[in-house]
Amino acid sequence: MVNPVAPRCPQCGSPVTDESATLIRHSYGSPVVWNESWWQQPPRCFACGFELQSDVTVKTGHSSPVQEGHSQIQIQPGVSLAWTFLDYLDYCPFIEIQISRTFAAESGGLAQQERIRLTPEEWQAIAAQLQGPLQPLVHQQSWWIDTT
Ligand SMILES: [Zn+2]
Repeated sequence: MVNPVAPRCPQCGSPVTDESATLIRHSYGSPVVWNESWWQQPPRCFACGFELQSDVTVKTGHSSPVQEGHSQIQIQPGVSLAWTFLDYLDYCPFIEIQISRTFAAESGGLAQQERIRLTPEEWQAIAAQLQGPLQPLVHQQSWWIDTT
């Protein structure tokens, strides 16, 4: 089910996209979605310009005795295209998270750079698990051992 109505901006309360501009009908009854303009434009609120992407830094990850570790986290929307049938081009939105860490781990651990793209439904499922039955995972703590 496609919802052509844009959600409200968390900053100003107006719809985040100009709904009249999204009422472009495509061939063969293709649906009209409020976020179609994000395919080619930065994700900003149409009314107030609020950026619907973020760049935050948190103290986390590996640390050394002389430098505390941190992660820079960038979150932004994107669109994935796939030919899923003969002449059927499917546009699937995703939310991309890129992380840059102060320190990398040994192989198989936390990398210095990470990038993951998941659909909104996948992110919602993950958030529901981490806010529900898997909540203790969010409260894990780091520890260290001095080997000298
Ligand atoms: Zn706004």
